[in-house]
Amino acid sequence: MQDLTATDVIATKRDGGALTDAQIDWAIDAYTNGIVAEEQMAALLMAIYLNGMSPREIAQWTRAMINSGKRVDLSRLPRPTVDKHSTGGVGDKISLILVPLVAACGAIVPQMAGRGLGHTGGTLDKMESIPGWRADLAVDQFVRQLDGVGGAICAASEDLAPADRALYALRDATATVASIPMISASIMSKKIAAGPRNLVLDVKVGTGAFMTEVGAATELAHTMIDLGAAHGVRVSALLTDMSTPLGHAVGNAVEVSEALDVLAGGGPTDIVSLTLALADEMLRLARVDADPAAVLASGKAMDTWRAMVLAQGGDPDAELPAPRHVERVTAATDGRVDMLDAMQVARAAWRLGSGRARKEDAVQAAAGIICLAKPGDPVTRGAPLFELRTDTPDRLDAAMRDLATAVSIAPADEPSHAGRELVLATIRHDEPTR
Ligand code: URA
Repeated sequence: MQDLTATDVIATKRDGGALTDAQIDWAIDAYTNGIVAEEQMAALLMAIYLNGMSPREIAQWTRAMINSGKRVDLSRLPRPTVDKHSTGGVGDKISLILVPLVAACGAIVPQMAGRGLGHTGGTLDKMESIPGWRADLAVDQFVRQLDGVGGAICAASEDLAPADRALYALRDATATVASIPMISASIMSKKIAAGPRNLVLDVKVGTGAFMTEVGAATELAHTMIDLGAAHGVRVSALLTDMSTPLGHAVGNAVEVSEALDVLAGGGPTDIVSLTLALADEMLRLARVDADPAAVLASGKAMDTWRAMVLAQGGDPDAELPAPRHVERVTAATDGRVDMLDAMQVARAAWRLGSGRARKEDAVQAAAGIICLAKPGDPVTRGAPLFELRTDTPDRLDAAMRDLATAVSIAPADEPSHAGRELVLATIRHDEPTR
């Protein structure tokens, strides 16, 4: 190893060569320990971004990131473990329903989640709008909660794939995030280190997602499934539409409230059907025989949610934070909602304070948007399209400018473009894409 130098590693990739396993292990280890400088890793990241990596290189890069920290041992838990990871959507509060639902079905769901950055919301930011709820669990508390309650959502512990944390910040600062090898290695190193034996990926496709095309999303899914297989984790992926927000609520407390509607047996149909599709696949992978629709209807998922919230110091009966200012945007014409753009709605919610621009920023628990009309819905002139919520009214104008291009209304008698399938494909290990 002592013969390796950062400039040789960079030059190999710059010139289109393949990195050896030893070069990859050294680069990740030396960067984590401050031997490879930020500018050297930035150059290597750009070379990888431009020239890609082979499956072997991606597998080794992932292995090196896992080995940069600890791996949680869930092997002593008494039931099969299965987690879900979404590549990031708008209005995506699915984990809040899915974790207690699949736990109530009899599997163990160990979810280490993240905070939001930029336009995509973070599961922890949503959960933290519940008064008293704490994201941080020590690993032994996490395992104890999984044993007792069956599910946990908590912050990823600092010693899980620490190389990824440093690399992700550098990728963000050097415009090298959107690389399939590096996104795959980043997501899978954290998920594999968190210890589940089974994992379902919700790979988002559309204007509100990293991947706007099905082809790229399919490649991302296959790459992550293969990484799982190399590390003994059974992985499936659902490719799902992210061209329009999921459900009606986009923000933090507003999304918790919508998730609670679903746990209580109601809620928007797109949220219910995507949750059940993901639950079916999780239970299939974990080989647990249960009917998630029946379990949801029975109220057992709500009981598990309450137990999960209580176990982390939260009050499941507390009022969620309310915004200081509420404003509505109305329709300028009669017709039918033709398009509601996920990215524009996400941007507007972020401007209202639901997201952060830098990772140290605080988020407003009560900020967000309720989409009062979804694609396909008829509207009349003057009818409300959006409810905007914020604690800081000086943010309203910018959010309204984003929302002005977020929606289009077509004459009611024109053919509708609404009604795109929610689940576009299911991809399983060693099975052709369906
Ligand atoms: N989420 C991650 O954890 N890593 C990426 O690179 C992209 C999304």
